[in-house]
Order: sequence, then C-alpha cells, then structure tokens
Amino acid sequence: MEFSDGNQWHYVTDPAAYEQNRLMYEYRAASGSTGQMLIDTKFAQQRAAMQPLLDGMLYYQKPYNKETPEAQANMFCDLLGRLAPNEMVMLDIEGDINVPDPADFMHRWLGVVESRLNTLAWIYVPQSLSGVLTRAVTGNRIVKAPKYSGADQRGPAPSWPHDVHQYSDKGWFPGGNGPGDVNFTDLTVPQMLDRCRREATPAPPPPQGVPMPPRRAMWSPNCDDRPRNVTWLCFHTQEGNGTADSLARYLDNPASGVSYNTVGDASELIDVVPFDRSPWAALGANGRADHFCFGGSFSAWSRQQWLDCGMLDNAAAWLADRAQARGIPLAYVGTDGVRTGNPGVIGHVDWTRGANEGSHTDPGPNFPWDELIARAQRFTQPPGDDDMTPEQDKMLREVHFELTQRLPDRSDGQTPLVDTLLGHAINAATFARRNMDQAPGPRSGLLQRIADKLGA
Ligand SMILES: [Zn+2]
Repeated sequence: MEFSDGNQWHYVTDPAAYEQNRLMYEYRAASGSTGQMLIDTKFAQQRAAMQPLLDGMLYYQKPYNKETPEAQANMFCDLLGRLAPNEMVMLDIEGDINVPDPADFMHRWLGVVESRLNTLAWIYVPQSLSGVLTRAVTGNRIVKAPKYSGADQRGPAPSWPHDVHQYSDKGWFPGGNGPGDVNFTDLTVPQMLDRCRREATPAPPPPQGVPMPPRRAMWSPNCDDRPRNVTWLCFHTQEGNGTADSLARYLDNPASGVSYNTVGDASELIDVVPFDRSPWAALGANGRADHFCFGGSFSAWSRQQWLDCGMLDNAAAWLADRAQARGIPLAYVGTDGVRTGNPGVIGHVDWTRGANEGSHTDPGPNFPWDELIARAQRFTQPPGDDDMTPEQDKMLREVHFELTQRLPDRSDGQTPLVDTLLGHAINAATFARRNMDQAPGPRSGLLQRIADKLGA
C-alpha cells in the first residue's frame, strides 16, 4: 500500500478525497532544519482533520544538533499529548544534522518518547546512516528508508534493510495541494500498529560490556609523553608478512623507531603502547589517535582478501572497546573527518590527505570500513534474554574496571609504576618472594602463608 508524507509545503486540503484513496497519512510535526526547532503551523489542523478518517497516522520529528535528544523528545511529546490507537511516531534522523553519535542520539530520544507515549517509534534511516542505524540498533522498530525515483514510478528499493520505501517527492498526493513525498510498504496498517505496540516488543536494553579476544601486552620503548588529544581511532597495515607477535617483537626494538598502541591478527590483540602515551605511527597524528596495526597485512589487498584474512573480528573488538573508552562514534569519517576535526574512525591515509602531512596511504583503497564498523557494532549489541540480570551486569562491570584500570603504585618502589590491580598484586608477590629468600629471621604468619602459596 501507499501513503503520502505531508509537511507545510505538501498537505491535504481535501481530507475526503485523500480518504477515498489512502488508508494512512504521515506528517512532519516538528523540524530543526532552519537551525531552530519549529512546530509545523499546519500540524494540529492536519491531525484534527485526518486522524478520525484514516486507519493510521504517523507523526515525525526531524531533530537538530543544538539541543539534547531528551529536550527535543520532550518538546515532541508535549506537542502530541496522548496518542490515539491509530497514531504512530517516527524519529527522522538524517545525516545532514551532524549529530556526533546518531545511535546514541536515537537511544536517548527513544528513551523519552517511547515511555512518555507508550509506543515503539519508527526510525528513518537514510543511506548515509545505514551503516550506523542497522537492524541490530533499531531493533524490531519499523524502518523507513528513502530512495527517490524522481518520478511517479516507484523505482528500485533501497539496498539497506527497511520496511517502508519512500520513493518520490514528485508523486501523486490525493486531496493535496500539489505533488509530494510518497511511501510504499508491504505491511498493512494493522501490522504497522501492531509493531508499534510497546508491550509486544519491549525496547532493547542499553548496550552491554564489550567481550574481548585474547589480549596481552608487549610494551615498546618507541613512544613518548606528548600531550594526547585523541579524536580518532586510526588503522594501519604492516606492509609485510608476519603475525601480531612478530610485529610486536619488531616494534619492541628501539632501532625500528615505530610503534602503534595495539597490533592484532586473527588470534590475538597485543597492546604495544599504553593509551595514555603516544606511539610513533603517523607523525602529527601520534597524539591525535589511538593506533591499530594489522599484523601481516598489505594495503594492496582486495576487499575479498580483507574479508578472508580472519583479522577483522579482533580489530572490531578493539575498535568497539576504544570507541567506548574514548566516547568516539563508531563511524568512518575519513579524510573529511580529519579536515573538519569530526571524531570517528580513520585510516593512516586520511591523516596523510586531511592534514596534508606524510605520504602513507594505508590501509589501502579496498579496506572494508563498512564491514569493520558493522562488526564493531555487534560488540555493543544487547545480549539475549538468557543473559545476566542488570545487577549481575553491574557487578561484572565493577570487577572489570577494578582489574583493568591503571593505578599509580602506592608503595615506596624505586619507579613510579602505573599498572592494573592484578599487575600490582603480581609485583607485590614477586617483591615478597625476593625478600623472603634473603630474610634470615623467622617469618610472620602472613608472610609464611604467602611463601607457602608461592612455594618459596
Ligand atoms: Zn600507517
């Protein structure tokens, strides 16, 4: 079935004529396109005239980036009041509004709207956001995707997942004041209303912790303490054969004069330079990004070679982890991102071109950015029903934080160590064993028990 998408330029002037031809009507209730959030002046009138006549009504908000998602969502809810049983709502998030993290924006907007209006919202997913607002992110919500045919005919459907295809802004607009946006869907109106029933499909829980592949450290001396201002997560190729292990050993040699924060291959991740220090990876970008290098990789690889190399999942786990730790969006921002200072994911080549510095072009023109980011998003997806309770999840997060945060050493050791809690415990045990070997006198009860445990 088809239905029209109205706004202040395309609206229904003859509701009876519209009703004869269409079961449903959609209207843009509020928009931030002009740089301030405006309520459409025709909205209340269109709603009052059409809602009693039709099987389904859909109202949407196009947000902007000058207010929080919560503030805009509350304004939208204040405007709508209560929804009638035939009314639905949509978030019209578009690439041109440049919110730094569209998925986060969506979750926060939904958090207000879906609870206040007791409904599941539709999500508008343009092609530019199709790698970010995936089905895994939008859940069971109805997705509307635009692929304009530029004509009255529908034309090919969007290539990314969708339930409703918006195909023309020159289409027939029954009862209207001229041509306008038209939508097509295989769903019936009752099916759509059912998909929006909140009790039938609860909203997904917030993203859970990121499971990591095997990970260890082999610290390289090739790094420095220049101030870090990390805006990007940057990927490199080795341009040589080998593994993460052999690459880390090479970086461990001061003579190599090169390093990254982390290297990885199909079997593990190896941290080489702590994230609070700058590796020697890409000239001026050393302090502007966390750097990752694929062990045994070449920028001349084809897309298929990248997909077959077996390393993308581990790199994606690292990417998801660093994006979460830094609050950097899981989006490839490329050369333009470097030029404009837009945070996200880049390759060495993007620094070379965006900052006009250096000559490296890794990880190459065929690197599958879409695939890497889609895989990283899987690490931030909610778990299945049989997973942990929120209380268990909280406890696990606390344990993870305690075990992995890096603490300054509080003992009177000669060097001011910064290490994890486990690292300090191992250091303390080693120190105790060394002292016990040298101590001639009787040991205290505690020292004796530690010595027994260590077999010293
Ligand atoms: Zn590089």
